[in-house]
Amino acid sequence: MTSPDLIDRLEKAEGLHDRIAASHPSLRRGQVWCRSCGSSRRVDSSQALRSGWPKCCGDTMTIDSPAEQELLHSRTQEGEDDRGER
Ligand SMILES: [Zn+2]
Repeated sequence: MTSPDLIDRLEKAEGLHDRIAASHPSLRRGQVWCRSCGSSRRVDSSQALRSGWPKCCGDTMTIDSPAEQELLHSRTQEGEDDRGER
């Protein structure tokens, strides 16, 4: 059974990509990093959210700069910032 609510949510999710890309500072920056080899590349965030995030060394690249990754690591104990990154 498909509820109207679900369809509504899916439609919102379509436009959401642009809004996420525009609202998130790390996404607006349009740069991603490989956690394995440390290489970085430019990315169109809203397009990447739609069609697939860039990968490197077999892993999805992260929007967090190396410095920010360190920061997130040290904050992990507090468990307050789970970005659900894929
Ligand atoms: Zn790599």
